[in-house]
Amino acid sequence: MVGEFDKVKLAAGTRRPMCLKALTEKELQVSPHYSTHPTGGASAIGSPYAKSLETNQIVTDSQRSSNLAELERPQLAAAFEQRGLQRFRADQVFRWIYRHGVTGFEEMTDLPQSLRAALTADFTLTTPQILHREQSIDGTEKFLLRLADGTQIESVFIPDTPSMTFCISTQVGCAMGCGFCLTGKMGLVRNLTAGEIAGQVRVLAAATGMLDHPFNIVLMGMGEPLHNYDNTMKALRMLHSEHGLAVSPRRVTLSTVGIVPAMKRLAREALMPNLAISLHATTEDQRSELVPPNRKYPLAEILETCRRFPLKKRSRITFEYVMLKGINDTAEDARRLARLLAGIKAKVNLIPLNPAPGIPYERPSDATVDRFAQILADRHLTVSVRKSRGQDIRAACGQLIVEGGSKKSAAQQMALLMR
Ligand code: SAH
Ligand code: SF4
Repeated sequence: MVGEFDKVKLAAGTRRPMCLKALTEKELQVSPHYSTHPTGGASAIGSPYAKSLETNQIVTDSQRSSNLAELERPQLAAAFEQRGLQRFRADQVFRWIYRHGVTGFEEMTDLPQSLRAALTADFTLTTPQILHREQSIDGTEKFLLRLADGTQIESVFIPDTPSMTFCISTQVGCAMGCGFCLTGKMGLVRNLTAGEIAGQVRVLAAATGMLDHPFNIVLMGMGEPLHNYDNTMKALRMLHSEHGLAVSPRRVTLSTVGIVPAMKRLAREALMPNLAISLHATTEDQRSELVPPNRKYPLAEILETCRRFPLKKRSRITFEYVMLKGINDTAEDARRLARLLAGIKAKVNLIPLNPAPGIPYERPSDATVDRFAQILADRHLTVSVRKSRGQDIRAACGQLIVEGGSKKSAAQQMALLMR
């Protein structure tokens, strides 16, 4: 999902961007170059597509050591060294890729021509290609990107002063199967590689003129970032490198349904993004229904892990709560939510459902959302209500669209996906 932001309505909330979800016909194709390692657990979360909740590694081609887009700065330096190239050349090339957003060695104009030719012969630099770019009346821009294997993904640029935000995907599809999310209906097609995750930022930053400006990143596009842990963290390291875009982890928010072992691993990371937990329900039963991984990692365990999660000074965990009319939007739900979050440095982000074909839920009224928010605020919780962004271009959270030349309606496309 990608393409939304929050408006602070109550208390001292902060502005926070969000994203949209979109699928394409191509996204349903699995490249012959990639395969997933299902390691069990599928039935545990009730999704026919589910793979392991804890590890979801993809097989990569000979570690892609010659594809510079997949290398962290030290790996790139090592690859250069192996080929007898000087270390400073690695920094120079890394800067070209990230700071200048170039996509070919010929564009690296301060390298000698002979070196550019040698790099072209020895290495590749795979970069997502912009197939389509669409701007909403509210300024949100949605990008349809084509990956090297023909798979298509979407990423969103949410321009909000003072914080510009990129909402990016970590997987093609998702194994978690949340009942209100169209990406969940699709199942997992494949993980994105680290280079593809970081590549979305490279491409969007260059296309929007943001290479020299600070921006935020939210991992709220398609996919569950903690189900693609290693690639996601590697991508964050690539983006963090001082030789590249130097994105501070404080500017990155990782949104997860709460895969507890991965949360515990994240808690030990040197480079730790802000954490957002997709909660959506206040009882185990209801959450298991709406968010199937809850059957394996229950609410109580997730909240306990949050209580122990190391937080920097003044930082808090965001709890996202998609509001579904008549399902989880009562005053009692709000009171229960406040009780559950007691003792956690928390803020709550209410997300009125973005309806979509095939999603059997409705969006509650503004009055219901306001009442819910007020109950939380009365209990001293910071609450923000996410305002849908880019709805006219279907760039809002959870809104599936099938592009790529298809003339079918969203409902027809959904029906095809469900076959
Ligand atoms: N998989 C991760 C991150 C991507 S989803 C997660 O679930 O947290 C990012 C956010 O979009 C989640 O909070 C999710 O609940 C929300 N979302 C999904 N479908 C939605 C919909 N139809 N309407 C509103 N928000 C939705
Ligand atoms: Fe996956 Fe659920 Fe997040 Fe959708 S909301 S992307 S199904 S984890």
